[in-house]
Amino acid sequence: MPELASVVGDIAADLSAVTERGTVASYIPMLAEVPIGQFGIAVTTADGQVITAGDAEVPFSIQSISKVFTLTLALGQIGDALWQRVGKEPSGNAFNSIVQLEYEHGVPRNPFINAGAIVVADAMLSGHQPREALGAILRFIRFVAADEAITIDEAVARSEKETGFRNTALANYMRAFGVLQHPVDHALGVYFHQCALSMTCRQLALAGRYLAFSGRLSPGGPTVVAPERARRIAALMLTCGHYDGSGEFAFRVGLPGKSGVGGGILAIAPGKASIAVWSPGLDRHGNSVLGSLALERLAKAMRWSVFAG
Ligand code: GLU
Repeated sequence: MPELASVVGDIAADLSAVTERGTVASYIPMLAEVPIGQFGIAVTTADGQVITAGDAEVPFSIQSISKVFTLTLALGQIGDALWQRVGKEPSGNAFNSIVQLEYEHGVPRNPFINAGAIVVADAMLSGHQPREALGAILRFIRFVAADEAITIDEAVARSEKETGFRNTALANYMRAFGVLQHPVDHALGVYFHQCALSMTCRQLALAGRYLAFSGRLSPGGPTVVAPERARRIAALMLTCGHYDGSGEFAFRVGLPGKSGVGGGILAIAPGKASIAVWSPGLDRHGNSVLGSLALERLAKAMRWSVFAG
């Protein structure tokens, strides 16, 4: 087996020469300003090492990667009742598609498309004000990442609110079906703010440990969620974590992962490592071009694909 630190270093060095980097998300004005030439990677292993390369200490907007953490929290809050309001199937559609919602009566396909994540945000509001739900999200992220410095970028949240006409449409539509149970602006307020969490690759890789290590922060370490819950969330990451590019990601990388339009991807090699990559240029599905390439190379070199070989 090659040495992890040299594999990670080689990937960062090789990718710095790649010129085809996709395009930065432009529909959220604050994200459009992020320079495309950045790349970071952080890998945390079962024995507690954190190996980084490139721009691993630069904070970026985690966007949809936050959906993994809010799903964890909502399941903790209302348990399996959540699955009456959101499905577990890949969507095969864009992350912000409206069409599917109509013929499926306002129940989103899965918790990782925008509509599904807005339902999850709504579930987190059961018995809580938006401010309390956001406080719970921030506390959880800081705990799993073991880093009290993590914050929400208010400018990004505002930027998304001002231009989030599609997400507002999705939320209103679901409210009309009774799938959303709280005021639309409350659910959206939580959603826009969770997406605006600002984290570095190092922080994100640490935050993903409980998914890689059967619900614990390290093998045999403190428990965050039951092993079954971690396993199920990872299954959804594999099948739904990259929108309508999920099949392609499983084919190329073979790891459960969740992408965000900020250009980050959180991936887990079960029992072995939690990995965060970031590069702001996206492909046509909204997934980081260099991030996917880096994970493909890493999984291959370390033989980490969950499909073995
Ligand atoms: N905040 C983004 C949106 O709602 C999240 C999309 C993503 O990261 O894929 O459009």
